[in-house]
Amino acid sequence: MKLTACPMDCFDACKVVYKDGTCKPSDDYITNKKLCKNFAYLIQEKNIIDKNLNETLKKVANKLKEPNQKILYYKGTGNMGVMQKVPMKFFEKIGATFAVGDICCAGGEAGIEMGRKYSINPNIEDLQASEVILVWGRNFTQTSAHIYKLVKDKIFITIDPVKTPIAKKSEVFLQIPPKGDYLLAKLLQKALDNEDIDIDDLNKLNITQEQFNKTIELLTKNKVSAMIGIGAQKYKEGAIIIHEMDKVFNKLNLFDGKNRGVWYLGSGTYPFENKISVKPTKTCTYADIKFDDYDVVFIQAANPVISAPNTQYLIESLKNTFVIFMGTTANETSKYADIIIPAKTFLQKKDVRASYGHDEVTFCEVCEENDYAISEYDLTSYLFKEFGFDGLLSEDEYLDCFKTKINDKPDINFINHDTKNVELLDLKDDEFYLITSKNTDNLNSQFKYDDYAYVHPSKGFADNQLVTISSKIDSIQIKVKNDERIYSNSILIYAGNKQVNRLTSNEISDCGTNATFQDIKLTVG
Ligand code: SF4
Repeated sequence: MKLTACPMDCFDACKVVYKDGTCKPSDDYITNKKLCKNFAYLIQEKNIIDKNLNETLKKVANKLKEPNQKILYYKGTGNMGVMQKVPMKFFEKIGATFAVGDICCAGGEAGIEMGRKYSINPNIEDLQASEVILVWGRNFTQTSAHIYKLVKDKIFITIDPVKTPIAKKSEVFLQIPPKGDYLLAKLLQKALDNEDIDIDDLNKLNITQEQFNKTIELLTKNKVSAMIGIGAQKYKEGAIIIHEMDKVFNKLNLFDGKNRGVWYLGSGTYPFENKISVKPTKTCTYADIKFDDYDVVFIQAANPVISAPNTQYLIESLKNTFVIFMGTTANETSKYADIIIPAKTFLQKKDVRASYGHDEVTFCEVCEENDYAISEYDLTSYLFKEFGFDGLLSEDEYLDCFKTKINDKPDINFINHDTKNVELLDLKDDEFYLITSKNTDNLNSQFKYDDYAYVHPSKGFADNQLVTISSKIDSIQIKVKNDERIYSNSILIYAGNKQVNRLTSNEISDCGTNATFQDIKLTVG
């Protein structure tokens, strides 16, 4: 019997027991004997192999050795094991440019760091001890199903433009317009300071006085925790939106010396001395990358052709450069690769899996052998030898640094910053907001794509009607489905849909170099 962990980009980081060729859920308190359907999809994937792996590696080394090249290192989140980052050691040595920032959550992280310096979650026990959980822009039951099950009997307040499953079981559901989070945070702060609230502001947010009063009552008369998702920060001003939300939590005393009740995507490796970290000298940002600015692009565990904003622009730039792709499966991005390096799957290599949702850490054992693929550590070791570099530690030295905690959860001395006003998007009658939530049948660009754009029934479209949706960036043809759960002036297209990022902009956020997926207006023709 071997222990490993689900490698996917998910809060829960479930532990997996491997025996006789089969993966079973562990019975520890987070995984609790259950893995999700995405895990079932994962282990059925057809993985890339290469029977001439040595020759392929030689080609990679030769290409990287060519003189006077600009080289880009671009790492995705297809596998969340810490050893995914080891190739950075090599690319740092050769002076490559590193893609930094994020396309997902960096704006929110920057907003958190404005007020409390560290984006570190509390202990899960604090969540379990709360009476009321405020779920703000997070599809809690579906994106952290295991953590949700630990607290499913609490009282919930949900703030979201979509009536998610957690919204349906919430005592109060505030269905605000996309980007309404800033104004709502300001109103909650005022109410907590006993200041009057302008009813026109509540109307702008689609909130009744009664709902608002009930929210304040629940927040002030109970022990509260907050689960923040990435929805509120998918805008140019994402960082300050999250900072204003944090000010609400500060007024609720959730940062009383330590973070005692606010969860975002926390750093699971914060407690450890992370020997894998590097200090690249040249960087560019994920969200507005131009691949053909580089002679060679090394893409690892990523599928930017689907996941990154403004994909048509990105594809054109990918066609004009030399692409080395490393991954476990072929995807839309690997089609543009000049060399493909098959990566070992999570079952085939040692690793450490930390979580951004809780504090559990899993040391992953080798469960299966595969001579036709390579781990990230072995690739790095090979390239170090080829280039005559020294300084790479042994695989176990990198893994072992996650055995001893050297940092406690940080103290917080919350700092309030004044922020500029964040207006709602100014929509004309025929314009729509874009919502790009996660779907339950896929994880980022992996697995089953949802082909539809979801619209509110009040807009008068027929199910399966083929429409043209346009933004200032591009247009797509897509079928619609009616869905009364979404905010009326919105179009929901799930993240991972093959077309949605043709509409999104590669403008980056003001802070945190994040993508701004939802800062775009749409029209339908
Ligand atoms: S819930 Fe998340 S961590 Fe658990 S098996 Fe599913 S994808 Fe993996």
